[in-house]
Amino acid sequence: MSEPVNSFEEQQQGRPTGPLVQGYEVIIGFETHAQLSTASKIFSRASTAFGAEANTQACAVDMALPGTLPVMNRGAVERAIKLGLALGSTIAPRSVFARKNYFYPDLPKGYQISQFEIPVVQGGSVSFLLGEETKTVRLVRAHLEEDAGKSLHEDFIGQSGIDLNRAGTPLLEIVTEPDMRSTAEAVAYARELHKIVTWIGICDGNMQEGSFRCDANVSVRKPGDKLGTRREIKNLNSFKFMQQAIDYEIRWQIEEIEDGRKVQQATVLFDPDTGETRAMRTKEDAADYRYFPDPDLPPLAIAPEWVERVRGEMPELPRAMAERYVASHGLSAYDAAQLTQSTALAGYFDAAVAAGAAPKLASNWITGEIARRLNTQDIAITEAPVSATQLAKLIVRIGDGTVSNNAARQVFEALWTGEASEVDAVIEAKGLKQMSDSGALEAIIDGVLATNEKNIAEYRAGKDKAFNALVGQVMKASQGKANPAQVNALLKTKLG
Ligand code: ADP
Ligand code: MG
Repeated sequence: MSEPVNSFEEQQQGRPTGPLVQGYEVIIGFETHAQLSTASKIFSRASTAFGAEANTQACAVDMALPGTLPVMNRGAVERAIKLGLALGSTIAPRSVFARKNYFYPDLPKGYQISQFEIPVVQGGSVSFLLGEETKTVRLVRAHLEEDAGKSLHEDFIGQSGIDLNRAGTPLLEIVTEPDMRSTAEAVAYARELHKIVTWIGICDGNMQEGSFRCDANVSVRKPGDKLGTRREIKNLNSFKFMQQAIDYEIRWQIEEIEDGRKVQQATVLFDPDTGETRAMRTKEDAADYRYFPDPDLPPLAIAPEWVERVRGEMPELPRAMAERYVASHGLSAYDAAQLTQSTALAGYFDAAVAAGAAPKLASNWITGEIARRLNTQDIAITEAPVSATQLAKLIVRIGDGTVSNNAARQVFEALWTGEASEVDAVIEAKGLKQMSDSGALEAIIDGVLATNEKNIAEYRAGKDKAFNALVGQVMKASQGKANPAQVNALLKTKLG
């Protein structure tokens, strides 16, 4: 049986060189396992819910009892179709399940059902912003497969056990070309892919629970050389560890080569405690797995009508939405990308705009003040104590001159901490209304001018500082309630 046609070396021809690290170019390719959000397993009816007591969600099929047969879960296939449509891939009209044979205690059948020669999703790409630049990482494929169980090592009783709850959980393994050229680009790719799978609702994206885990293949080479030997860092389940692990691996490989050794192809694990990667085993080749088509499963046929129905149900994708924000609201590409981090965040922005907020101001508040608070409190936008409607109300009040930016911040603080729940009520209660009565303001200005002859003289002599001092005096006398723009204008007319 032949390997899938794909020469990584050939695929790299004509690709731009990346930033060099100590004279070496870094090459990274990703394999990502996204756990598909189906209620039941890929080939059985057992539940996929996380956190159940060991072996309470493993049925006869998952335990590989003799005589059991796998039955394909339509929902898993549909999720694969969604990913393919989101990433511009080809959806194979006919794909084949294969047995990947290896021995491990958490794999009772002695093989994993996966796809090998003909995967369900082929080609496509992921594009994202890295700083100012748009990067595009090409996909080789995405294939459906089942997860294995888990070995549990109960050190305190000196025993190990097997939990088969995870066995048979549907996975989509998404494989890229070795197109990434730096740690930052690799992490940005992973973040973008994470955003897409959660956005289209095929994966819950929970990295701590292992719903989205990445294997990073890393190699280094002198520019112009052939691809170097890669080492594969397994199971990166946080973006922070991903960055630390790849950075460490790059330094390690360069040091090996500089010391005159050769990098051996290997599978490595990252240890967050030491910050180092450590070889786990030498790398198997495809041949070691003795892949062959699974005789228990017919080829997976996907009719064009099915693909078209799914296409019709696809949501607007984050990049398209970001482009729309730029075009119709005049936002910067960066802000638009920030707002389209999740459907929830974009929904919050849309709701604020629908409630009358000026889009640019709404964007500034959400990507600034709100993002900062969500971050420090480590909560999601869905848990934000200030609703999109209240944010819109506040923005309207800034716009119509009722409150200054400074006062708006105080209002926001009161809403966020739960001290109050309604914008106008807070403005009233705290006396934050901007002075809009120009008669009252003029009286204050006259008072200030009457007692600041020195500043007036200096202003007339051409000193800008003196003018600012006068503005400051008026603001102070109004207890901060005067509208600074109005103060400026009135002062200028009065001073002639
Ligand atoms: P497996 O790891 O299962 O054997 P493949 O051989 O298909 O799978 O390659 C897996 C990943 O390794 C792909 O994401 C690919 O982009 C990446 N890769 C291949 N060659 C290199 C290389 N020289 N440096 C870095 N990544 C590479
Ligand atoms: Mg691999």
